[in-house]
Amino acid sequence: MSTPALVLCISGHDPSGGAGLQADIETVKALGGHALGVITALTVQDSRNVSRVAAVAPSLLAEQLQALLDDCKIAAIKIGLLGEAAQLPVIVQAIRRAQVPVVFDPVLRAGGGTDLVGTALQTAVIEQLLPQVTLLTPNAAEARRLAPAAADLDTCAAALLTAGCANLLVTGGDEAGDGVTNTWYRRGARRHYEWPRLPETFHGAGCTLASAIATLLAQGRDLAEAIEQGQRWTQQTLQQALTIGHGRRIPGRGR
Ligand code: PLP
Repeated sequence: MSTPALVLCISGHDPSGGAGLQADIETVKALGGHALGVITALTVQDSRNVSRVAAVAPSLLAEQLQALLDDCKIAAIKIGLLGEAAQLPVIVQAIRRAQVPVVFDPVLRAGGGTDLVGTALQTAVIEQLLPQVTLLTPNAAEARRLAPAAADLDTCAAALLTAGCANLLVTGGDEAGDGVTNTWYRRGARRHYEWPRLPETFHGAGCTLASAIATLLAQGRDLAEAIEQGQRWTQQTLQQALTIGHGRRIPGRGR
C-alpha cells in the first residue's frame, strides 16, 4: 500500500484549467503527490481574463477543511485565490491545526488585468494570513501592491517579512528584461535565480510554481531544494505550454 504525500490545496477554480485548483491538482500529481482540493471561489474566465469571482461561504469552507483534517495526514498546504475576508479565520484555523509548511501564492490580479481582491480581503490577508505562511510567492506587481509604501522590491520584501511571513520568493516574469530574475528573501538573506525569458506570457504559471514547491516540501525536501526544483519544473511546463484558446497559453503539466 502506498501513501503519497498529501498537499491540501485551498484555491479558486478556473474553468479554463490553466490556473487555480486544476493547476494545483495537475502539478501535485505530476510530482508524485496527491492533492486534497478545497475551493475558495468559483470564477468565470477564459484564457484571456477573469470576469467574475463568486466566493464559497466560509461555513462550507470550514466543513470541507475539517472533514479532511479529521481524516488525512496533510504534509503541506498550498493557498491561492481567496474569495472574501470572512474566509481568513477559517483558513488560519486549519493551518494552526495542520502544523505543516504553508505556501501562499497571493493572487491579487488576473494576468488579463481584472482585479481579484478588494481592500478588505487584502488587509485581512496581510494581518491574518502572512504571519502563518512559510513561503509567500508574489510576482513583482503583487509584492509592490502588498507593500505599497516600499520604494523597491528589496524594501517590499523586507516589509512583508516584517508583516510575519518567514520567506518570500518574488517572481520576475511580469518585469521587463531579457531574462527572468526570481528572488528568495528571508530575514537577513537574499538569493537570486536567473531563468531564460520565454517569448510569451502564460496563464497559471504562478499557481504551478507554488504547488510544485508545496509538493516538494510535502515530500520532505528542504526549502532551498524545493524552491530550486519547483522553479526548474515550472520552467519545463512553460517550455511545453498548451494552446487552449485565444489568450495566453497554459503550462503543460501533463507530460
Ligand atoms: N483564476 C484563479 C482561480 C487563479 O488562481 C489565478 C491565479 O493564480 C488566476 C485566475 C489568474 O492567473 P494568471 O494571473 O496566471 O492569469
